Amino acid sequence: MKITEVEAIHLRLPDLDAEQCDGTQDTLIIRIHTDEGIVGVGEVDSSPLVAKAVVDARASHSIATGLRSLLIGENPIEIERLWDKMYRGTIYFGRTGPALHAISGVDIALWDIFGKVMNRPGCEMMGGIFNRKLKAYASALMPETIEEAARMAEQYAKQGYKAMKFGWGPIGRDPKFDEAQVKAIREAIGDDIDIMIDAGLAWDLKGALRMADVYEKYGVYWLEEPVHSNDIAGYRELADRTRISIAGGEQESGRMAFQRLLDEGHLDIIQPDLARVGGLTEGKRIAYLAYDRHKKVVPHAFKTGILVAASTHFAAAIPNGFMIEYTVSNSPLARDLVSREVEFKDGYVTVPVDRPGLGVEIDEEVLNRYRVE
Ligand code: MG
Repeated sequence: MKITEVEAIHLRLPDLDAEQCDGTQDTLIIRIHTDEGIVGVGEVDSSPLVAKAVVDARASHSIATGLRSLLIGENPIEIERLWDKMYRGTIYFGRTGPALHAISGVDIALWDIFGKVMNRPGCEMMGGIFNRKLKAYASALMPETIEEAARMAEQYAKQGYKAMKFGWGPIGRDPKFDEAQVKAIREAIGDDIDIMIDAGLAWDLKGALRMADVYEKYGVYWLEEPVHSNDIAGYRELADRTRISIAGGEQESGRMAFQRLLDEGHLDIIQPDLARVGGLTEGKRIAYLAYDRHKKVVPHAFKTGILVAASTHFAAAIPNGFMIEYTVSNSPLARDLVSREVEFKDGYVTVPVDRPGLGVEIDEEVLNRYRVE
């Protein structure tokens, strides 16, 4: 079996608002074709055109090469060898950042192909099903008003969510407002639903320490990215001095960064984004770094149904997975690109074990509607 083509397809909503911290407005889809007619799909969460260049770039020399030319003619099910070939072949501009983002999309598509070749679901191929049902938390951007935050929380609770996260937006501007907002959310949904706050790098260490105490009062389950991603010492002191779980890692790619977040930053929950860290292959290595240190993994995911499916298979196939991020964005890319999506019911997703690979189908009409190159 041989890879015959690697497509990097840029999709974009016509009314994209670049001021929003919302990754569901555009995306980069990877489609890998084989000489046996099996096609795998993956997704990249990066700047789509930057990652597309990593795929499409013509070979310069042996360690500065685009992914397509490294992959054509290769056997797609030799996933770890191909991962290493891509990593080495991009080492002058890679090792982290956009090169690993692009490798992620390819890697997810290769796992999809592997499952389809074996006619088995992706999670089985990745090592087996540790968890059949995973909590899916509603992931939303924090609105500008307290009333709207309470209204949204109530709505997600009605939809059956057992956990919800609010992030970015006004968080960090005014501690009194932040407290009033989380108080309103807690009052709207009662004590049985988890609340998580994604601060979006809002504070320095002192600010984060103060707010961690406030959020603890309202039973917030985790506080995400309270300090700058580079402030490893800040993460460590915060995690050591507070009882609330500290989460982070969505900005990172490659396992070395996660080893640092765990060993030097003392994070409680790590959030690798499989469309950025190096795909399912690197994601699994990261999950086991965390497992060895008795830490949990909740994959970050704020894109289309392709990444939701990849994250679901991933969290099912690791011993320390139990929850996935589930964007509530109304973007047609998040909602409609995948026609057979992972089933959500009563706050949980069921791992799709009745279909091979990722188990998703792309709606070609939706893909063509938003395709820009
Ligand atoms: Mg986040």
